[in-house]
Amino acid sequence: MPKKFYITTPIYYVNGVPHIGHTYTTVAADVLARWHRLIGDDVFFLTGTDEHGAKIEEKAKEMKLKPQKYVDEIADKFKQAWQELNISHNNFFRTTDKNHIKAVQKALQFMYDKGDIYLSKYEGLYCRGCEQYKKNRDLVDGLCPDHKTVPEKMSEECYTFKLSKYQDKLLELIKKDKLQILPLNRKNEIVSFYEKEGLEDISFSRKNVNWGIPIPWDNSHTIYVWADAFLYYLTGLGWDGFTPLIKQDRGINFWPPQVQLMSKDILRVHTTIWPAMLLSLGLPLSKTIFVHGYFSINGQKMSKSIGNVIVPNDLIKKYGVDATRYLIMSAAVFGSDGDISRQQFDEKYNADLANGLGNLVARVSNLLEKNNLELNLKINSNKKLIREYKEKMLGFKFDEVLKSLWQKLRTADEILSDKKPWKLEDKKEIKNILEPVAEDLLNVASLLKPFMPTVAEKIIKQFSVKQIKKSQSLFPRIN
Ligand SMILES: [Zn+2]
Repeated sequence: MPKKFYITTPIYYVNGVPHIGHTYTTVAADVLARWHRLIGDDVFFLTGTDEHGAKIEEKAKEMKLKPQKYVDEIADKFKQAWQELNISHNNFFRTTDKNHIKAVQKALQFMYDKGDIYLSKYEGLYCRGCEQYKKNRDLVDGLCPDHKTVPEKMSEECYTFKLSKYQDKLLELIKKDKLQILPLNRKNEIVSFYEKEGLEDISFSRKNVNWGIPIPWDNSHTIYVWADAFLYYLTGLGWDGFTPLIKQDRGINFWPPQVQLMSKDILRVHTTIWPAMLLSLGLPLSKTIFVHGYFSINGQKMSKSIGNVIVPNDLIKKYGVDATRYLIMSAAVFGSDGDISRQQFDEKYNADLANGLGNLVARVSNLLEKNNLELNLKINSNKKLIREYKEKMLGFKFDEVLKSLWQKLRTADEILSDKKPWKLEDKKEIKNILEPVAEDLLNVASLLKPFMPTVAEKIIKQFSVKQIKKSQSLFPRIN
């Protein structure tokens, strides 16, 4: 039986169009999904959009659109971006899907009947940008640090989730890596949050937000947008609510996620509210939550007001799909923050792709054709390379994977420069130089499949015949 591998991106909030941050998470998830398919696992890869909440209602109003029309437009932009980037998700799921809405209502009803949700009055400071209540200790000079706005004083009747009930159980599960949080510094951060601040009950409904899912037993409230959004990880598999709990005949048999990828801003909610909801619903927790860092652009935070936002389509137009995927995945240590710039991307494109991989493929195939050599290359013949690659992939070390493959390419290049087969006459001698180099290229191409699917297939096809022909340049130089 193949192993099940369920991987998710976060559900992207449709308050803006996809930018390089969303792209980073999604391409990384795609690399893992593709690799797990290649090693024979049964993979389900979920992505989608989070479409409810006060912020969306306001945004739609600003643009003079009905909320549904607004979210349809933005969801299409996400879909299109992922299609352009050759993302291989099994489902793109939206929280305005009617199956999602029904299932969320059933789930909340179950939690309410169980006594995990109760009516109370909540008073606090609310940041609309975060769609979250804030504590004084969360604020910097009285402002939400992420949105630089003064949170509103709110006092309203709401249905409250007994989050505090799950404090001890969750802390234990996180400490024992039953809910694994990676990298380790992120786990330590969350453990320290549990130990120092701890979980408090949290409002799970809003009274004056119309653009949301109604609380099934009291239609004057809508469900808190995060509670709605988290359940997409279940409904995106076809989960239809609570009875029966798990339908084995549907996509839901992929539960639980092996890996949930996300950026650090949503780590805390994903390691508190989300697993507590699963415990309340009696469902197994996700295995691993992996948190990657942020990209800054030329040392500055990416922001609309600075005008330095990078959108995926710009990159694709300039570099092509596979090169864009490469540039993003090699830009930083996965799990740490990184700084990028357009100039850096240009330089890396020329160095690693135009002069690197592309030039080597052209050089080798050209020499093979010119000398009319017959080769018999074996793919996946370098077991050591494959072993190291696997280890790094399992450790989410994508940048190191690429570095080591490029090291292999550089070595191949050096062999050619040293031995200068173009100056030789003897065919046998030439073949002895070119054959191992060509086989290295084939091996590297095979391991590049998850990262650069189209280019990898092209190279494999080109080098899998007896008489290899020269090719068009894979990556034209840019100036
Ligand atoms: Zn905020």
